[in-house]
Amino acid sequence: MTDCLFCRIAAGEIPTDFVYEDDDVVAFRDINPQASVHILVVPRRHVPDLTAAAEDSDLIGRVVSAVAKVAADQGVDRSGYRSVVNTGPDAQQSVQHLHVHVIGGRQMDWPPG
Ligand code: AMP
Repeated sequence: MTDCLFCRIAAGEIPTDFVYEDDDVVAFRDINPQASVHILVVPRRHVPDLTAAAEDSDLIGRVVSAVAKVAADQGVDRSGYRSVVNTGPDAQQSVQHLHVHVIGGRQMDWPPG
């Protein structure tokens, strides 16, 4: 059994309501939401971060496609949404399995903190 939290969620070992899933990607609500819409889009296959995923353009394409579907399903594709991939310590990546935050439902500020 892996000790990677998002591998375990994607494999169904930790009961989680998926708002989207396909053969390669799952999406579920962030446990600490920063807006009314805050979904994490996660590849089923373990990839530690965006840098590691960069060589797999197929995987990146499937994740981005899922982000767009989730945004539409959540009703924020027209109003707008922020998609965030934190990579490494300076960005405060806390789970070492690639994930895209899809955040929407409110006006946001820029630049981020
Ligand atoms: P990051 O800091 O970019 O690595 O984002 C990790 C995100 O995972 C944070 O926003 C956490 O709130 C979220 N998170 C951690 N554990 C869980 C969980 N069990 N279910 C859903 N979201 C989680």
